[in-house]
Amino acid sequence: MKITFLGTGTSQGIPIIGSDHPVCKSSNPKDKRLRVSVLIEWNGFHYVIDCGPDFRYQMLRSGCSKIDAILFTHEHSDHVLGLDDIRPFYFKQGDISIYAHKRVLKALKKRFDYIFSTKNKYPGAPSLHVNRIKNKSFKLNEDVVIPIKGLHATLQVFGYRFNDFAYLTDMKSVSDKEIEKLKGVKVLVVNALRIQPHHSHFNLEEALAFIEKVNPEKAYLTHISHLLGFHDEVEKSLPDNVFLAYDELEILI
Ligand SMILES: [Zn+2]
Repeated sequence: MKITFLGTGTSQGIPIIGSDHPVCKSSNPKDKRLRVSVLIEWNGFHYVIDCGPDFRYQMLRSGCSKIDAILFTHEHSDHVLGLDDIRPFYFKQGDISIYAHKRVLKALKKRFDYIFSTKNKYPGAPSLHVNRIKNKSFKLNEDVVIPIKGLHATLQVFGYRFNDFAYLTDMKSVSDKEIEKLKGVKVLVVNALRIQPHHSHFNLEEALAFIEKVNPEKAYLTHISHLLGFHDEVEKSLPDNVFLAYDELEILI
């Protein structure tokens, strides 16, 4: 399995438009973060988790030319706004499979009514193969994916486990029952927004405590705000098995 971090930034990305913050002004490429997303290459299939406003550029930058499914964590703009840009994949491959909770599907239908419409559909609009998922494992081609339910403040969000790899973003709390599903995972990705507490995201301290509970071999932090600090400085302060993800980082599992 190969994981490519397509984006590791929080909702506004880094740099923030017009910001004079030193992290936004940093010349280190690792301090430049597109909106959060990850590409998973697994048994010859290409899966993307979330499809935010930077999706088009992320696909160009990663050289990804085929998508077998998009899995959504939740419906916030930084995770869904790129859906229109699946068109090049749709034109080549036909309907694109998406997987999401029913509430997320409802939100997508409202925002992208022309994609979901069945009457007088605009000829250039893409079409989807919609898969509604619940909090139980489901088959993705021949493989099994386990959703992990968490809360983003009060909003239900899905993380996903693919064998030895698990990806969770926009979490503020995860119950012990859900943490059980992560036991034995080798590589865990989890959100860590900033140093200060936040009402709907783990801060660094909460993310590290969560990693300790799950106890993976390695963990990577994502959905990072400029307020977490410079990549190279934060990285140095982390435990030996925890790393800051950065855009275009690739890992093999
Ligand atoms: Zn987000």
